[in-house]
Amino acid sequence: MALADIQTCFSGNPLDRADQMRTDPEIFGDIMHREDARVMLLAGESREDDGQMRISLSSEARILTDAGGTIAWQSPSKCRFLPVGTTIFLGLDGDAPRYAVMLDGSADEFGAMFEAEGAKFRDGRGIAYKLEGAHPSLGIIAQAKSMLLWHESHRYCAKCGAESMLAKAGYERTCPDCNAAHFPRTDPVVIMLVRRGNEALVGRGHGWPEGHYSALAGFMEPGESMEEAAAREIFEEVGLRATKVIYKASQPWPWPSTLMIGVEAWVDEGELTIDESEIEDAIWITKDDVKSSARGEHKYRLTPPPFAIASDLIKAWLAE
Ligand SMILES: [Zn+2]
Repeated sequence: MALADIQTCFSGNPLDRADQMRTDPEIFGDIMHREDARVMLLAGESREDDGQMRISLSSEARILTDAGGTIAWQSPSKCRFLPVGTTIFLGLDGDAPRYAVMLDGSADEFGAMFEAEGAKFRDGRGIAYKLEGAHPSLGIIAQAKSMLLWHESHRYCAKCGAESMLAKAGYERTCPDCNAAHFPRTDPVVIMLVRRGNEALVGRGHGWPEGHYSALAGFMEPGESMEEAAAREIFEEVGLRATKVIYKASQPWPWPSTLMIGVEAWVDEGELTIDESEIEDAIWITKDDVKSSARGEHKYRLTPPPFAIASDLIKAWLAE
């Protein structure tokens, strides 16, 4: 049964996260002893930095996928001789445990080992494109990628600076010096299709590909409701006052760990006052504009990639 009217890309993770098993040594002790266990592999990207090749894990961790783009699950015995970095427990598929492992090295180094079976390290956007935005693998990828990147960037205790340790199968880090507990974070972003009469408002950020427009968006701030954040962002970016904000759908967005909260925001009449420090441009469009853009007959690209929630918000508007 679908939980939401709109099924977004990277949601719909089919695994049972099995929180109650995260402290079970059978689950997170020696994972190699269970024949039914399966592991997904992630690795960093090699980048040249000041003339030296470095492995970047900041945001573009790559995921081992099969030829079709779905996760290429590996048996524990196959991983025995790989340089395993951080490991987390993802959950259960039936009774069988699933894990994600960040390899200690770059995707370029390990790629050749999996070529014979047709598997390849791909980036998240490439996988989402290949799977056309809808596949259970994408929900698991969102979980694994966000969790592993959190570990990479939270190695030290935020209270005392000591090196912290992974706990609860990856869902906590604890500090051996001051006993502080740290938990994986998710950063909420509101993304809104601004509406007025029969039109919707779309904008474009600085540096976007020529002619591309999408829904306005911005990070929520502490002490704000989702509706207030949407109204504030709209006023900051285009100077219009929202009169009503309606929740539509949400989407995990693993760059690195965001929750996109998709809304429709109705605004009063008024002139657009664009804050060019925030966005480059914003325009009112009609449903016909979107349809002609989809046919390649419009001067602007008004159809965001199918895996972005902005695409779902626009489709929901078109379907009204
Ligand atoms: Zn500490």
